[in-house]
Amino acid sequence: MSRIVMKFGGTSVADIDRIRIVAARVKEETRAGNQVAVVVSAMSGTTDQLIKWATQASPLHDAREYDTVVSAGEQITAGLLAMALQDMGVSARSWLGWQVPFHTNNIHSSARIENIDTAQMIDRLEDNIVCVMAGFQGISSDNRITTLGRGGSDTSAVALAAALGADRCDIYTDVEGVYTTDPRIVPSARKLDKITYEEMLEMASLGAKILQTRSVAMAMNHGVRVQVLSSFTNTPGTLVVDEEEIVEKQVVSGIAYAKNEAKITLVGVENTPGIAGEIFGPLASGHVNVDMIVQNISEDGKKTDLTFTVPEGDVEKAVAILKASGHVKYAKLMADKEVVKISVIGVGMRSHAGVAARMFETLAEKGINIQVISTSEIKISVLIGAEYNELAVRALHTAFGLDSE
Ligand code: ASP
Ligand code: MG
Repeated sequence: MSRIVMKFGGTSVADIDRIRIVAARVKEETRAGNQVAVVVSAMSGTTDQLIKWATQASPLHDAREYDTVVSAGEQITAGLLAMALQDMGVSARSWLGWQVPFHTNNIHSSARIENIDTAQMIDRLEDNIVCVMAGFQGISSDNRITTLGRGGSDTSAVALAAALGADRCDIYTDVEGVYTTDPRIVPSARKLDKITYEEMLEMASLGAKILQTRSVAMAMNHGVRVQVLSSFTNTPGTLVVDEEEIVEKQVVSGIAYAKNEAKITLVGVENTPGIAGEIFGPLASGHVNVDMIVQNISEDGKKTDLTFTVPEGDVEKAVAILKASGHVKYAKLMADKEVVKISVIGVGMRSHAGVAARMFETLAEKGINIQVISTSEIKISVLIGAEYNELAVRALHTAFGLDSE
């Protein structure tokens, strides 16, 4: 007998027929003798609609009332799934965040989980009652409903799995797992059987659409075995696991891309000590996240060019901050949104040299100019012109032997 958490995303519970399909899957797991807790999202489109209404009612809404509204979608699916299970002869009950309770801090709309009191739920699980929990929501110390940020029901599921000491956390979604790259760009992309937590975190541009990034970090910290799989097929998905569990390590496991980057270049900056702090300090105070940075000092050492990237949505803000901060002297400021960040990711890179060289050569062969480079232990990222996105991803996918036969 195992204790498992099953999480179903919005498309998996989009209508009553699909909720019945979900109920049938849950029933199978109980039939196999498992204790089952289910975490559900809102029916697809519901949360967007609720946010629209909240914004229409009050553009500068009270954050506490916003959470009261947007958390409502999950309440509906939790109740509906419990009913569908009961109709199939499975004992089940719904749990809202406050009923568990799922204690969070009081940062509304992006609350963090503080602790989960699972005593009551464990009693029910031991009586073989399926617990259907509304994802995405919790309760603050002020007794107000909170929500965990968009996509937060993944984090609810992983947190519940950790708190229950579950053997598995199966995240059902509308894709069959995690792929070596975006299959819409590379049709020969392969589904990975296993991926490490760290790689999954780095795969943000691919992975974040599948799992809320925070849920991956939480799974890693608590050693929760997560499986991503489709609720529409019966094929095994991708297991997100510890590095030790992966026997045959690929040097490169995946190629990710991020289109929402923008490049800012300051030309002819006075090269004096403290200058980087004067540039990046005000950006940080303005909550602009700087990602890649390169600096080039002129031959005489008096001037420097500085290039860095920021999220595309923050370019105007970043430029305004730089223009407003009077001390930084530069000749020219340029901003470019027509860039994309391409990353090759793999834990095998730790023990293999030559990945960067192969990446750069591959791009050079395609005539693609690299504008900025950054690296971490298991990732190499380059910034290139947005028009080369697909060409670069395809070429790198082939160069690193990731194409399926
Ligand atoms: N329903 C929420 C959202 O759409 C939470 C979730 O589905 O994970 O963001
Ligand atoms: Mg999701």
